[in-house]
Amino acid sequence: MKILLTGGTGFIGSRLMSHLRPHHQVSVLSRSPNKVYQRLGHDIDALPSLDDLPDLDQFDAVINLAGEPIADKRWSPSQKTRICHSRWRITEQLVEKIKAGSNPPAVVISGSAVGFYGRQGDTLVDEDTHPHPEFSHEVCSRWEELAQQAETEHTRVCRIRLGVVLGAEGGALVKMLPSYRFGLGGPIGSGKQYMSWIHIEDVVNLILFLLEHEECNGAYNATAPEPVTNAQFSKTLAGNLGKPHFARVPAWTMKLLFGEMADLLLTGQRVMPVRLQQAGFHFRYPTLDKALKETLSAPRL
Ligand code: NDP
Repeated sequence: MKILLTGGTGFIGSRLMSHLRPHHQVSVLSRSPNKVYQRLGHDIDALPSLDDLPDLDQFDAVINLAGEPIADKRWSPSQKTRICHSRWRITEQLVEKIKAGSNPPAVVISGSAVGFYGRQGDTLVDEDTHPHPEFSHEVCSRWEELAQQAETEHTRVCRIRLGVVLGAEGGALVKMLPSYRFGLGGPIGSGKQYMSWIHIEDVVNLILFLLEHEECNGAYNATAPEPVTNAQFSKTLAGNLGKPHFARVPAWTMKLLFGEMADLLLTGQRVMPVRLQQAGFHFRYPTLDKALKETLSAPRL
């Protein structure tokens, strides 16, 4: 298959590349071809922009993961604009080019996040759950709407609503580990808010699954079937490290430190991957304990 990948230099994209490369011909759209060569290898086809392509007819599939990191900086008005536009603009461009062709890619797999649903308390969330309007919903709903515009009788669109991705090469876990290793880890706020997570290997596998299964389209919750509360997550992580987990971080401290972005950690969603399971997708890491054990055994951690 000939695949166009955006976000290929990122945490998920680089892991995905190591699975795609042996079997497919992949071009990576990146703001920096040098980053592509350094991270992924000098033989990779790096595209600095889509401007020189009249359409995307040469590709069989598009995987769209690019976007300004959500949790790296405080959500100032300008950072919120960057978070939105980095995703919306690239998705718009992809759709324009797909529409310009006469033999468009057969499938578009486009990123989204469980933030699509906004805060949901302990309600079990499936793909049809009514979202709560807030910033994370605004980012994801427009991102998904734009991606969905690529759909025609020739092109199916799968939108993956990712939970917190657990892996040794990046993401939230790598940021949390130092405090846990110092014995300073613990629940955040009440600890009762749900966290929907997924092991990175399952993210890669579900993208490959959606690429191959021609009957799949629409929104898919990309989370393990065992969402946990923040307190359960903290206890399981600390347990796996042989460390205590009593250092509770009060909600007001989080708000003071991170402003509105603190909502990412203080509120959550209890998401179930209903449509993936109905489609027959098998999770290799269905429980948090198994996912953490595998991740923490990685030599680089
Ligand atoms: P990363 O932050 O690791 O990588 C995303 C890629 O997007 C980067 O490699 C970069 O590629 C590109 N990018 C970054 N900033 C911008 C920008 N301002 N404008 C255009 N492109 C940009 O993301 P992940 O791999 O962790 O996640 C992939 C997608 O999945 C993201 O969109 C993320 O929001 C979503 N997601 C991830 C979750 C997680 O836990 N990791 C959870 C939920 C959703 P380059 O520099 O080559 O252009």
